[in-house]
Amino acid sequence: MELREYQNELINNIRNEIIKEKRTICAVLGCGGGKSVIQGKIAQSATQKKNEVLFIVHRKELCRQIENTFRKCGVDFDYCTVGMVQTLCRRVTKLKEPKLILVDECHHILSNSYRKIIDSFPNAVVVGFTATPVRMNEGGLGDVFESLIESVSTKWLIENHYLAPYKYYGVDLADTRNLHTKNGEFIPDEVEHLMARSVIYGSTVENWRKFADGRQTIVYCSSINTSKETAQAFQEAGITAAHLDGTTGKAERDRTVADFRSGKIKVLCNVDLFGEGFDVPDCEAVVLLRPTRSLALHIQQSMRSMRYKEGKTAIILDHVGNYTRHGLPDDEREWTLEPKKQKMRCKSKVKTCPNCFAVVPAGEPVCPNCGYRFKEERKAPEVIEGVMLQEISSLPYYDYKKCRTFEELDRFRKAKKYKFCWTIHRALEMHIPIPDKYSKLADRLRAG
Ligand SMILES: [Zn+2]
Repeated sequence: MELREYQNELINNIRNEIIKEKRTICAVLGCGGGKSVIQGKIAQSATQKKNEVLFIVHRKELCRQIENTFRKCGVDFDYCTVGMVQTLCRRVTKLKEPKLILVDECHHILSNSYRKIIDSFPNAVVVGFTATPVRMNEGGLGDVFESLIESVSTKWLIENHYLAPYKYYGVDLADTRNLHTKNGEFIPDEVEHLMARSVIYGSTVENWRKFADGRQTIVYCSSINTSKETAQAFQEAGITAAHLDGTTGKAERDRTVADFRSGKIKVLCNVDLFGEGFDVPDCEAVVLLRPTRSLALHIQQSMRSMRYKEGKTAIILDHVGNYTRHGLPDDEREWTLEPKKQKMRCKSKVKTCPNCFAVVPAGEPVCPNCGYRFKEERKAPEVIEGVMLQEISSLPYYDYKKCRTFEELDRFRKAKKYKFCWTIHRALEMHIPIPDKYSKLADRLRAG
C-alpha cells in the first residue's frame, strides 16, 4: 500500500521519538488524513520484526474495519491483537505482552479502562492517534503522553485536495447558551427538554431545502426521540428519510445504510451512531442538531461530509451553535500536552454572516460566501425562533470563476460593489456571452 508523503513523514517522526527513548507518543493528524493506513504501516513493520502489537479501538464496530485495513497493509496477525478497549481491559491478564501499543482516537486515553491496559505493560511503547489531543473540555493529554507530534492540518488537507472544501452555515434554532454541563458535556435531560420545546423540526427541513436541498445528508441528533421526530418531519415534507440509533438491529441498520448509499434515502437521522471512525456512508451535507461541548465530537460530526470528491463542496448546517463553542473544523489550533493550560483557542474567532448565515473567521471584512460587507464585529449570534430572519438573496459563489452567465457575474459584481466594467471584463475573459445592449461597451473595453 502506497503512503502519501506526509504520512511517511509522520511515521518517520514517530520513529525518531522512539529512538530518543520517548515511551508515550501522541500523533495528531487532521480528520480524513488517513490514519488507519499509517497505523497499519506501523503495525506491519513491527510484526514483521516479530514484535507483539496491541491495537486499542474505541468502538466494537471498528475492529473488523481496522483488521481489513491491517490485512491490506500486510500486518502479521500472529503478532497483532485488535480489540475494543472494554474487552481488552477485561482480558488484560490474558493478553500477550506487547512491545507496541497503538491507541486509536487517543483523546479518550485518560479514562480508566485505557489506563489500566497501558499500566499493565510498562515496557511497551504507546503511540496514540487523534485529530483533537484534548480532554473532554480542555486541557492536554500530558498525564499519559510525553511527546506530541503534529502532522498536516485539516486546512492543509483541504488545500491539497485530500478533503472537500466546505461551507458552514450557522442558523440557530435552539438557544443552547443556558444549558448546564456535567462531566464536561451538556446534561442530556436539559438538551432533550430544550430540543423538544423548540419548534425546530419543521425549520430543520425548511433550512435543509434552502442550504442543502437534494444532497445526501446525515443529521446528528441528541436523542432517539428528536432523531425520530426529525426523520418524520422530512418524510412529511416528501423527502425520503430514516432514523437509526445504537439499538437498531443489525439487519435493519445495514439495509438503511445501503439505501442511503444508493440514494434511495436522502436524509439519515441518527443518534451517536456515526461517531468516531465508524464507517459512515459518504454524504454531501451534515445537519447538526446535537449541541456538544466536546471539540472531538464537533469536529468528527461536522467533517463527516468532507470526504474528497472532485468538484464537491460539503455543506455543514449547524442549528445548535456548536461553532460558537468550537469554531470551524479547519481552524488552525495550537495543541499542547499541558494538562490544565490548554485554552479553547478558537472561541469567538468566528462570526455569522447576517446575509447568508455562513460562519466565517471573525477577521474577515467581507463574507467570502456572499460578498456581504460586515459592519462591525458581531457578538453571539441571535437566536432565531424557528424561522429564518431574512430571505437568502445571496449568490452561492465566493469565486467569480464559478459564475456561468452574464447575469450571475453581474450579481457577483454588485455583491462585491465593483464597477460595472468589471462584469464586462470578466465576461470577455471567461467567454461568457454579453447581452447585445452592452456590445459597444464590450468592444471598447476589449480594445483597451
Ligand atoms: Zn454571506
